[in-house]
Amino acid sequence: MHPIADIINFLETLAPLHLQEEYDNSGLVCGDAGAVAQGAIVALDLTEEVVDEAIGHGFSLIIVHHPPIFKGLKKIDAKDPVTRMLLRCIQHEIAIYAIHTNLDNVIWGVNGEIAARMGLKHLQVLAPKAGTHLQLNTYVPSSHAEMVKNAIFEAGAGAIGLYNECSFSSQGEGTFKALEGANPFIGEKGLRHLEQEQKLEFIFPVHLQSQVLMALNAAHPYETVAYNIVPLENQFHELGAGAIGTLPEPVAEKDVLSMLKSIFKTGIIRHSPFTGKTIKTIALCGGSGKSLIYNALGMKADLYFTGDLGYHDFFLPAGRMLLADIGHFESEQFTSDLLERVIKEKFPTFAVLKTGRYTNPVNYFL
Ligand SMILES: [Zn+2]
Repeated sequence: MHPIADIINFLETLAPLHLQEEYDNSGLVCGDAGAVAQGAIVALDLTEEVVDEAIGHGFSLIIVHHPPIFKGLKKIDAKDPVTRMLLRCIQHEIAIYAIHTNLDNVIWGVNGEIAARMGLKHLQVLAPKAGTHLQLNTYVPSSHAEMVKNAIFEAGAGAIGLYNECSFSSQGEGTFKALEGANPFIGEKGLRHLEQEQKLEFIFPVHLQSQVLMALNAAHPYETVAYNIVPLENQFHELGAGAIGTLPEPVAEKDVLSMLKSIFKTGIIRHSPFTGKTIKTIALCGGSGKSLIYNALGMKADLYFTGDLGYHDFFLPAGRMLLADIGHFESEQFTSDLLERVIKEKFPTFAVLKTGRYTNPVNYFL
């Protein structure tokens, strides 16, 4: 038996909440994370049918991609459809957890899942996100440098791409004078002390800040630890919006559209005029990805596909790239499979089910 918090904490190690966009509302939307997790339904959206499903199974958690409360609620009035669903969930002690743009902003999330279905190789993020990492500088007596370094690595700092335990050390002299009431590890009160110290530098993701600082304070011998945390503007290829990769073999434009139709199970694809080129490099973004059209052009994609494109967007490639709209729901439909799969792998005895309902609110009259 796991508390719901265990499932949430696991999901947030895969897609930390700080990676969500400012406008988003990912995280626990409603419910008690301390309650026992008695099964979960995974869906793109919260609908009445999804709530019925969770109630029918006796489950205590619904995991959705799109947060049902997005812009705030001012009234709890059951006449409003979203509020009615929330009230039903509360009555049946079902928690709702949303994993939205934080899952969009990790390469193994929404977009990695789409790319895998397309068989794309050499995948990287289309629009890397800045501000995801911090730098820690600290000053440690040389005798304790290795111990502090180990503790900080243990807390998760020092990972860069396919490397971990990355750090930099430089030797120097630190000074301090212990004042009345202090209990210095070394040196005499009232006298300036000179100590051979190492300056240690590490990089770590924002969400690990408290555990990195806890590890630093626990391992550092000084009563008062000197350190600075520096925000970084670095961008990493695995964190950010959209994805871009290459097909194993170039494909004709019409063939790639047929491929999209079959993989994403859609009868209709809206696209810009054919360019006459074959398609090898493909950029993509699950959901509403119109803001990344120029990123795809800048990265020399032959095709960019997403959902929710408007009329004017189709003019933008101007013969340089094929642009396609496969539908918002269609582009994100595999997100539920991804979440179901990773939760099952981590918690093999926990009942997690992808919704059996078709929740796309957009219908096509063919
Ligand atoms: Zn979406």
